[in-house]
Amino acid sequence: MSHALTAKLNPQQAAAVELPAEHALILAGAGSGKTSVLTTRIAWLLSTGQISPSGLLAVTFTNKSAKEMLSRITAMLPLNPRGLWVGTFHGLCNRMLRLHHRDAGLPEAFAILDQSEQLGAIKRVLKFLGLDDDKYPPRAVQNYINGHKENGRRAGDVDAFDDYSRQLRLAYEEYEKQCNREGVADFSELLLRCYELLSHKPEIRQHYQQRFAHVLVDEFQDTNRLQYAWLKLLAGNNSAIFAVGDDDQSIYAFRGANVGNMVDFQTDFAVKHVIRLEQNYRSHGNILDAANAVISHNTQRLGKELWTQASAGEPIRVFEGASDFEEAQFIVEEAQTLIRDGMASSEIAILYRSNAQSRIIEHALFSAGVPYRVYGGLRFFERQEIKHALAYLRLIANPSDDNAFLRVVNFPTRGIGLKSVEAIVDRARLEGCSLWQAACAGASGRGAAALAKFVHMIEAMRNQADGLAMTDIVTMMLDLSGLLTHYQNDKEGEERVANLEELINAAATFISEDENNLIAFLSHASLEAGDHQAGAHEDALQLMTVHAAKGLEFHAVFLSGLEEGLFPHENSANDRLGLEEERRLMYVAITRARQRLYLSLAQSRMLHGQTRYGVASRFLDEIPQELLKYLNRGYAPSSYSSAAYVPPVASPKKTTPEHGLSIGMKVEHPKFGIGIVTDHEGGATGNVQVNFAQFGSKWLAVAYAKLKPV
Ligand code: ATP
Ligand code: MG
Repeated sequence: MSHALTAKLNPQQAAAVELPAEHALILAGAGSGKTSVLTTRIAWLLSTGQISPSGLLAVTFTNKSAKEMLSRITAMLPLNPRGLWVGTFHGLCNRMLRLHHRDAGLPEAFAILDQSEQLGAIKRVLKFLGLDDDKYPPRAVQNYINGHKENGRRAGDVDAFDDYSRQLRLAYEEYEKQCNREGVADFSELLLRCYELLSHKPEIRQHYQQRFAHVLVDEFQDTNRLQYAWLKLLAGNNSAIFAVGDDDQSIYAFRGANVGNMVDFQTDFAVKHVIRLEQNYRSHGNILDAANAVISHNTQRLGKELWTQASAGEPIRVFEGASDFEEAQFIVEEAQTLIRDGMASSEIAILYRSNAQSRIIEHALFSAGVPYRVYGGLRFFERQEIKHALAYLRLIANPSDDNAFLRVVNFPTRGIGLKSVEAIVDRARLEGCSLWQAACAGASGRGAAALAKFVHMIEAMRNQADGLAMTDIVTMMLDLSGLLTHYQNDKEGEERVANLEELINAAATFISEDENNLIAFLSHASLEAGDHQAGAHEDALQLMTVHAAKGLEFHAVFLSGLEEGLFPHENSANDRLGLEEERRLMYVAITRARQRLYLSLAQSRMLHGQTRYGVASRFLDEIPQELLKYLNRGYAPSSYSSAAYVPPVASPKKTTPEHGLSIGMKVEHPKFGIGIVTDHEGGATGNVQVNFAQFGSKWLAVAYAKLKPV
């Protein structure tokens, strides 16, 4: 039996599969069969009767790869996958906590908070403590709490050295109390709580240590400190840990992953067997040569080389578009050709460095009617910040859109509490009117002033939007609503800001025959967000970030946006360690391809709301030029290397002069003509009410209205 399982493997792989029950590290490059060896070892251990299905635990990084692993095992052996402890760190910890919820101090049906629910819970804590959102941005507090949890520290273990850090610690403490009271656990809590369960309850720890004779870990290079400690505890002295990983594919340092774990593992566990696999079975020669060449520029490596028996295969194709639009067009047309020639869509992946890049590709796919699926992230128009922005636009277009109203009435927070919103809902129901109308009628109590300000703001946007180009409407809305500032102030908000800026780009390229631009744009957005998503079983092109592609493979891979500042990302390009992490990411990207690899870039790209002229990524230079085939315009490599990095031009900051408008003043508006100022609020960034001779009373945004005193 064992023979049949290992027959297809090479001698090193077979040796790894059949290692004795001792700690082992398989340190090997991409596509060398690490995951295959790990799953085959599980099948081998089971089929040779060395362990029963309940006697092993295998952990991997994503749900997708856990599923993949289970299906590979059940393809080799007839087993009920439910009995197997195979899953992600979170999934396995959750399972253990459910079984021992009482010992873990959790209710039986404890709920798991996702990231946004956790944020909501933290906001409540901050409010309860009277901590100001500006000084203690909830997202920053969330990072603070999660960061400590991932390092195994409870609030009581955290050092505080000044008033600010004492308040943060207090927030953490209060958050812990609130979660316990409500019986909920966030993602990092699952791991920490499970770790504590094992360390505080010897009988439970011993039970699992005895039970799991084998603990197997895929993608070991990306484990963080707490995960490593958890594994250590679980293994004890009885289990053998079988870890597989590739230091060159460590891409989660920014989330606390620690390649050092691979080195520590060898000493902590006195690992006897370190096996290197050097033959790559995934990619054709040219692809592999490119990957090897790129990664050889890194200095922080444990060192290994990959070779393949496969032929050189096709050259790596390089396409340089005049614009990002042309680049996306090329990708979609080329992918369609591959599909027409018989390649399954699901064997084609389009990869990008940052989520915001997907929008233009999604648009091209959508226009061509090609089904696609986005992994490890939401489709552009379904992202939270985009939905908020669209809700403002919908309110501008149609004030009685109650859903839009509810979504943004207090987002970003502006002091309109739940009570006030409930009062509006009740009133609307009573009077059979829209929430907007109910809100216009005013409110009583604490939220009244804030509500009036919100109403005026939306009115100001609506008055301003009339006749404006779509991009200007979006820009104004992002500014006046405070959405952009909200995400700019958010430590974690960088990607959301990029997405919002991408929305401006979407508006800039939006052309409609419709008279009402805004309504046409909104229906375009809801259509693209809607049902064009491929069904679960439908064959579809695969879109994802390079991070999400880890461990996966495809016949054809399109790697887009190979420009300096984008990939390598501008945040990392200037420090050596950051650059090495970007390069590992590039290595991961290249090695996803089996037969065909396309690298593409655009000479100009709409980014951060303006056109930026990109320079080819240094990673293109690091690939030997004889492996590349330039598809268009005969670009020679020298045109890349001579170019220097041009940082993107910063968006001009609007400076708003003090408006100097006072009640009773006579002013002129470019569209509405002459009027008298009757009210104002919020200073230069606020609104002003003007009674126009011809158009009646209107609220306008001071910063946009271009009012001239006359
Ligand atoms: P990554 O580093 O990207 O996670 P990996 O080292 O886990 O890659 P696998 O995904 O296990 O590599 O294997 C890559 C491909 O090579 C798979 O398609 C697998 O089926 C194939 N493969 C692995 N070993 C062999 C072998 N001995 N003979 C033929 N094909 C193999
Ligand atoms: Mg793998």
